[in-house]
Amino acid sequence: MTERIFNFSAGPAVLPVPVLEEAQRDMLSLPGVGMSVMEISHRSKTFDKIIAGAEAGLRELLGIPDNYRILFLQGGASLQFSMVPMNFLPADGSADYIITGSWGKKALKEAKKVGGVNVAANMADGGFTRVPATDEINLNSQAAYVHITTNETIEGVQWKAEPNVGSVPLFADASSDILSHRIPMEKYALIYAGAQKNMGPSGVTLVILRDDLLQRIPEGLHTMLDFKTHVENNSLYNTPNTWGIYIIDLVCKWLKDKGGLAAMERENDEKSRLLYDAIDASSFYRGHADADARSTMNVTYRLPSEALEKKFTAEATAQGLDGLKGHRSVGGIRASIYNAFPREGVEALVSFMMEFERKNG
Ligand code: PMP
Repeated sequence: MTERIFNFSAGPAVLPVPVLEEAQRDMLSLPGVGMSVMEISHRSKTFDKIIAGAEAGLRELLGIPDNYRILFLQGGASLQFSMVPMNFLPADGSADYIITGSWGKKALKEAKKVGGVNVAANMADGGFTRVPATDEINLNSQAAYVHITTNETIEGVQWKAEPNVGSVPLFADASSDILSHRIPMEKYALIYAGAQKNMGPSGVTLVILRDDLLQRIPEGLHTMLDFKTHVENNSLYNTPNTWGIYIIDLVCKWLKDKGGLAAMERENDEKSRLLYDAIDASSFYRGHADADARSTMNVTYRLPSEALEKKFTAEATAQGLDGLKGHRSVGGIRASIYNAFPREGVEALVSFMMEFERKNG
């Protein structure tokens, strides 16, 4: 098969075609280097330029000030569930976790192994359909940090504005909506994100952290689990995912060519609106998340029965609309439409949905 299908996978997910084409063109030999990016030393001048390019690209796109460090780590966002509390949650302290879905729950589970946690809000009732209102969040002013998940990939629930956490550092798992819209970076002390949705392949995790946090890190952590190690060595203490960082660099260039995050945000709003409008206009399809918290990245919805959902995904797959099955833990349909997902794919899905409802509704 040489034709590309419409890939609605939640991650690893669709990447921009121009990025894939450039990587393909330079697969055997980076221009002027005579080797592929996978074959060069991570301590070479060539790779220095690549990692510096990825960092500069992210800094520019996200407006990351100089007093923040940018790290490219491994172990996925899942390792950050542990590494973040190991570095920043003192054993006798407490951290606030706001739980808006399945990934936040996993982060909470690991933090509990390290120190005290206060579940400042838990939106599990009703099956994670929204983010809490200010008066539903029970913050501890002495907390080491407040942790949120900016976009819950499984439920399709997204924060539209940061919660007000006062002077407590705000930490976020932004794995599934990083680079999808502009963010007020200065409101965050730490952001982490696996690359495999909006940035590149799996196997590289971005961590952005504010300098002043480094003083809080306790002595005696394992070297690889200590953020100081990676800050002091510019993410090159050990061998990083060189290929992944190379792709992130290319994705940043692609984003800048498109007009940066303001342009991306507009496109994502439009693409997701097409789908939500189709869902809202029908009584056959039922959106999962509340309208004011629904994700521009992962559009989740149900059909009248599980049997129909099965039929829906099978027929969609046969028509080249792949990856629409909801996460195994919640069922239903999930259309992941990250930055690189084309608008025509969303239009194709909307047409398919109308036709499917006509035949089965
Ligand atoms: N957090 C969120 C919001 C995610 O979507 C995912 C992966 N889908 C993870 C964490 C876990 O990421 P990883 O597989 O990179 O460990």
